[in-house]
Amino acid sequence: MTSKIEKQTFCRVCEPSCGLIATLEEGAITALKPDRDHPVTRGFACHKGLSVLDIHQDPDRLNWPLVRQGATLKQTSWQEAAVAVGDRIKALQATYGDQAIGVYTGNPLAFNSTAGPAIGSFVSAIGSRRNFSSGTQDCSNKFAASEAVFGSSTIHPIPDIAHTDFLLILGANPRVSHMSFVSIADPIAELRAAKQRGARLVFVDPRLNESVSGLGELLQIKPDTDTYLLAAMVHHCFSHGLIDTAVTARYAEGLDFLKAFAADYSAQKVASVVGLTVDAIEKIASEFAAADRAAVYMSTGVNMGRQGALAYWLLYMLSFITGNLGRQGGNKYAQGFYPAAKAGATRGQAPSFEDSPYGPVRKIRGSLPGNLMADMILNDPNPIRGLVVISGNPLLSIGNSQLMKAALEKLEFLVVIDIYPSATSEYAD
Ligand code: SF4
Repeated sequence: MTSKIEKQTFCRVCEPSCGLIATLEEGAITALKPDRDHPVTRGFACHKGLSVLDIHQDPDRLNWPLVRQGATLKQTSWQEAAVAVGDRIKALQATYGDQAIGVYTGNPLAFNSTAGPAIGSFVSAIGSRRNFSSGTQDCSNKFAASEAVFGSSTIHPIPDIAHTDFLLILGANPRVSHMSFVSIADPIAELRAAKQRGARLVFVDPRLNESVSGLGELLQIKPDTDTYLLAAMVHHCFSHGLIDTAVTARYAEGLDFLKAFAADYSAQKVASVVGLTVDAIEKIASEFAAADRAAVYMSTGVNMGRQGALAYWLLYMLSFITGNLGRQGGNKYAQGFYPAAKAGATRGQAPSFEDSPYGPVRKIRGSLPGNLMADMILNDPNPIRGLVVISGNPLLSIGNSQLMKAALEKLEFLVVIDIYPSATSEYAD
């Protein structure tokens, strides 16, 4: 008789960690389905989570290390691979110093609770400060702004979609890309419920993205001008007495600075920049401020722009001065199941920039900007000569693939840790 049992588990692919039920037969997983009894995700799982079993069983998946022999990669043992990697790293460091080794980590590690500490230990053991992450390509602005505003890179008050009357969404397309930094399993269901409840959803985007249809309205701006729109909205709130003075009197520090900063960005001044009329800018600011409960959200479209950190600061300033930060229906921060705020706390330290051949550079959450990695391999006076890539594919995910290709070709040693071969691993040793 075959043994068949069901076990509760969860998806490791993205933030909500949706609850799943795995069927095990003779100790092997044979099926995955959403966990209807999960108290938070309540039976939701997307196609990515449910496809994990296909990946788990895929014959093309790498279940063992490969080592380059000429033009081909040959299977080897874990022991031999670990020793070979360690020997190559030690040899490069003995010749060129600790900083000759770089480490690049990709997005999957953000959802792996044991990988973070393990990689932190590895990086500190090899003594290199050349640590890059994919986060610097699409969300470091949020970490940097939250350090400045809240004193911790890990505080990101989320929109209270369930109770809001007005949700302003900038540079996000939840129907296609979910919603990052909010850990909601099924954001479209929540947005739809909010709309049915009578909430107004306003998308700020250069194009009519897939989420607008059937859910909300579009404020179509020119690409990468969100910061100007937000500054003008903040300015309008100050200049038209739309500030929640009870809130600012109690909690604000440096309000005059914010007011003076925004004063340079009146609707009249930014209208031609953002591609909206003065009336449209002032109207959206007035309506946001007048809503009983208004929430804000922004994502990748703004994160990857020229002023992503500034935009994120202004986003929360708009929420704060209108009395919507930290309250029901506005943007809220919950401690959650572990002290995330403590993990990212700056402890009062201002960010420190280091001089570099590329200008002043600062690390965000311990990572250097990924888009400097190729330069640090190709053009640095003390170049990276060995690179460890973990769950990432920088050849495809960092801009300027030609430059990255030249950099990977120049490396004396490249090791890639992943579950599938990738474009980057084509260059691996
Ligand atoms: S939304 Fe999809 S990918 Fe993300 S945790 Fe849930 S099932 Fe996994």
